[in-house]
Formats: sequence, structure tokens, C-alpha cells
Amino acid sequence: MKLNRSELARSAVAVPKPPVRIVHLGLGAFHRAHQVWFTQHAADGSEWGIAAFSMRSATAADALAPQDGLFTLVQRGARDSVELLWPIVEVGDASAESGAVRMVELIAAPSTAVVTLTITEAGYAADSAAIRLLRAGLVARVAAGGGPITVVPCDNLSGNGEVLAALVGVEGEVSFVSTSVDRITPRTTPADQESVRRTTGWTDMAPVVTEPFASWILQGDFPAGRPRWESAGAVFVQDITPWEQRKLWLLNGAHTYLANAGLARGHVTVAEAIADAELRAGVDAFWAEAAAHLPVEVGAAAYAEQLIERFANARIEHRLSQIAADSTAKLRVRVLPVLRAERVAGRSGAASMAFIDAWIQAMQAGIRSADAEDDQIDAALMSGESGTALLTLLDPKLVEEPR
Ligand code: NAD
Repeated sequence: MKLNRSELARSAVAVPKPPVRIVHLGLGAFHRAHQVWFTQHAADGSEWGIAAFSMRSATAADALAPQDGLFTLVQRGARDSVELLWPIVEVGDASAESGAVRMVELIAAPSTAVVTLTITEAGYAADSAAIRLLRAGLVARVAAGGGPITVVPCDNLSGNGEVLAALVGVEGEVSFVSTSVDRITPRTTPADQESVRRTTGWTDMAPVVTEPFASWILQGDFPAGRPRWESAGAVFVQDITPWEQRKLWLLNGAHTYLANAGLARGHVTVAEAIADAELRAGVDAFWAEAAAHLPVEVGAAAYAEQLIERFANARIEHRLSQIAADSTAKLRVRVLPVLRAERVAGRSGAASMAFIDAWIQAMQAGIRSADAEDDQIDAALMSGESGTALLTLLDPKLVEEPR
């Protein structure tokens, strides 16, 4: 059976179709496993529809549009749980002119209360298509007196709300919320599609597989309202900084290391890499350095313990090659802050430095994944002192300091 709203109606399966009140930029797997799931499970979720747009290619939109935004979420733990998610009620491709126009129009519409983003870390540049379109939508809204709105970045960079506010630079009734998002969601494979077809009987061209764990921490105001995400487990805090650091450093920092060092050692997935005693020791040492700079209330030790279990979940096939993408930008936000804090404390930050060295060695060995800074990496590798040049690319200050 094809998966779409009319087929479901024919089979007497009732799914809500709420009006669009949320616009989303970046229609990847993560958005569907995270914000869409939280919205569906919010107590008033059936009042909040999402219009979701792909930003760089039509692939995700082409798969989801014929399904009227419906897709299957598989939570893979000790056993699977399979669920149909319905909050996406409109799908578009903003890499095409007509989709971009529609997205800008929806951001400006008074009925829209929230804009969410998962555009990857590399998307946070003043001239990226996502930022330009978001800016255009907000400018149009302010000009038309569309009323207050909240923008919620869901990408892994600290102070994402403030960073985005500065990039967009729109004055008016626009609230930027900072968030820390956590749910390991690999790219969907053809095998996942086939297993969903066998389990559910419907042909879903865009299922998503994720882990059972989910966390969303938010700081900021929603002047135009929002779904009651807290009833699905989201947590609203006054100061997000330590929560963000806990997640960025412990989870994402370890991921980037496991990707660079793990690929070099012939591993393919996170589960394989964390089972490698040498890599595990590197992760433990980095976590000890990071934990020294986190307040007690975020429970770094318990979070780290849980992470080992999450990383070791072999049923989540999280590929190191996917995680290794854009390592340059990622190391700056996931690892460099720990190294800096260690050096301020008068220590060498050897474990943090080992994470950076793993990236340098991967680059030198030609183990490359797509990186927004590929041209600069190429130039560094061509120079006589490629190690020093790569370190300079990461942060020029690093080469001036003794190791
Ligand atoms: P994905 O590759 O499936 O989707 C990424 C989306 O971002 C796509 O729609 C793509 O078009 C868009 N995009 C990519 N580069 C862009 C750019 N330079 N400018 C504008 N748009 C761009 O990835 P995903 O797994 O959905 O993850 C997306 C982001 O979500 C991650 O980069 C991360 O910041 C955040 N996140 C992911 C996970 C996870 O486990 N997958 C966990 C926490 C946070």
C-alpha cells in the first residue's frame, strides 16, 4: 500500500491534519526524528502543522511530497517500535525558485508562530541559502506587520540562537531561542525502507530510523505560542550553556574523534569504533578533561555512562563517514573549547589535542569526507608543513602555543 493521506483514509486510519503554524528549514532525517516526533507527542500536537522544506536538493521533498508529509519513525533499541508521524502537512523544496518563494511567504504569514532549522553547522554563514531565505521571510513579515514569531535553530553549535540572530540581523518582534538537541539519527538506508515495508505493509520512501533516547533543551521566549513540547519531554531552562556544552563536548566531540580515528583504523560505524579499546580510552580521557569544566548539576558522569550504551547500540548503524563530514567546523565547537579551558587551567589538554591530531592524521592519510573547508584543507596539505598548516586552519592561535 502506498503511504499517503487518501490511502490511509480509505483504510479507515485517522490521522490529524493540523494547519501550518511551524515552518521548518532542512528536511533531513534528524528533523523528522526529533522536532516532528516532539510535536506529535505534545499534548496539543494535533493543533500544530509543519511546513517542511529541503534546502539543498529536492531528494527529501520528492520522497515526502507524494506521501503528503507522512512517514514512519522506527525507534531501534532492544526491540523496535514503529510509529506513523503526521505533523508535516506541507512539503517543499527551497532549492527551487517556487519552493523558496512559498517558504518566504509562509514565514511572513501571521498564522506562522515558529520557524525551526536543521541546516547543519556549515549552514550558519551569512550568505548560505537558508540564512538568506530566513532573512527574506522575516523582513517581509516585519514589513507587513505579521506579528511576533520565534526562530528555533536545532543544529549543534553553542549559543545557536544568538549566532543565528546575529547572522540574520533582522530588527523587530523576532525571538531567537537557543536549543540543545539530542537524538542519534543516522541516514536512512534502502534496507530500512524494506524492513518498514515488511513490518507495516505500506511502501514508505522516506522512513527514519532513530534511537529510543530523545532530549530537547530550550532557552528563550515564544511570544506567538508553541506546542506544549514539555509534555513530550522537552525541558525549558533559564541558562542553556552548560547543557549545551555537555552535549556538544561529550557526545559530539567523541563522535568527531571516533569518526576520524575510527575510519583510519578501518571501522565503519560508531558501534564498531567504541568497541575498540584504544579509541574508548581516548574518549574516556577527553570526557575527563571536559567534565572538569561542567557544573555538577548537569550530571556529566551519568550522561557519559549513558552515552557509552547509546554509542554501543549496534542496531543504530551510524556511519563514521557521515559523522566525519565538516570535521573542521565541528572540531572548533566540539573540542577546541575544552582544550582552551584546560590550558587556562594550566594543563596541557592532551586528550583534546589527541582528538585534533586524529583529524590531522586522517587528512594527511587522505581519509576525507565532504567538508565546507575542503579548499583550505587541500591548500594546507599541499604546503611543506601540512600538520602546522592544518592546525592554523583550525585556529591560528594553536600554533603559537606549546603542546
Ligand atoms: P541531513 O544531511 O539528512 O540533512 C541536513 C539538511 O540540511 C538537509 O535538508 C540539507 O539540505 C540541509 N543543508 C546541508 N548543508 C546546508 C547548508 N550549507 N546550507 C543550508 N542547508 C544545508 O542531516 P541530518 O541528520 O538531518 O542532520 C541535520 C543537522 O541536525 C546536523 O547537521 C546537526 O546540526 C543536527 N543534528 C543531527 C543529529 C543526528 O543524529 N543526525 C543529532 C543532533 C543534531
